[in-house]
Amino acid sequence: MHNFLKNVIAIFVCLSGMPFLIREWMCRHRVSILLYHDPKPTVFAKHIAYLSRHYTVISLDTFVAAIHQKDFSQIPPKSVVITMDDGHAGNIELLPLFKQYHVRPMLYVCTQIIDTHRHFWFKIDGQSKAEKERLKRLSNVERLTHLKNMAGFEPEKVYPDRQALNVTEMEDMMESVDFQPHTRFHPILPRCTETECNHEILESKADLEKLLGIECFHFSYPNGDYTEREIEIVKASGFRSARTTDIGWNTLDTPLYRLKAIPITDDAGLTRFRSELTTIPHRLGRWVNSLVWRK
Ligand SMILES: [Zn+2]
Repeated sequence: MHNFLKNVIAIFVCLSGMPFLIREWMCRHRVSILLYHDPKPTVFAKHIAYLSRHYTVISLDTFVAAIHQKDFSQIPPKSVVITMDDGHAGNIELLPLFKQYHVRPMLYVCTQIIDTHRHFWFKIDGQSKAEKERLKRLSNVERLTHLKNMAGFEPEKVYPDRQALNVTEMEDMMESVDFQPHTRFHPILPRCTETECNHEILESKADLEKLLGIECFHFSYPNGDYTEREIEIVKASGFRSARTTDIGWNTLDTPLYRLKAIPITDDAGLTRFRSELTTIPHRLGRWVNSLVWRK
């Protein structure tokens, strides 16, 4: 949907009073897992100030432990978990805000891109959104062949500029942030062969455990794409949870390898942010997309 239209929808959602109603009614006994990528500190500062007034921010570990123990007594009403995908270099600038608000976000990182000058395949200059969506539907080999032919992109190619966090930054952040894997190179897992899929999931766990000297128990599927095969591999690899991009809130009954999320637009103003917390724009967007694809 066009940005202008999204802002109009956000204004209507906020004027309708839905942010208040959904927060007080739906979110009271449900956990919202927010999904960011690379928000600027000026934008994120407004979001976190709003969250700290109206919600309680908890860590993903706390929430997953509650589901494991089938005990929600330690989960405050209107709890929110903050997650960020990929490991973008800009995330380091948010550290002062994490400290100021005493929150512990979960950063899911691509373990062969962090601490290198390799690039994310979806951040190639001049790539349109439609082109990216088309690439996501190709097999892993076809996608990589196309990227190499069209843009000279290779997963292990080293570029002059750095797109991801480096190990020094991550070590500085570890006091306030949890890091867990998001595969090695961000392939679309259901488009990978079983060998590729196994490798991306298992080796990303090994990579991050070695790099940071931590244990990894939580995973997030690149682009939120998964099938039963990915769930089985993630489970067999020793993970305790996996976050999807399926829209919605989480309860004690949410399957641990299919945790739901609420994607937040990285540059959302406060009206747009409050509207996205209701999930109404996402549901509308998916409905519109389903109509377009049916044609
Ligand atoms: Zn991602």
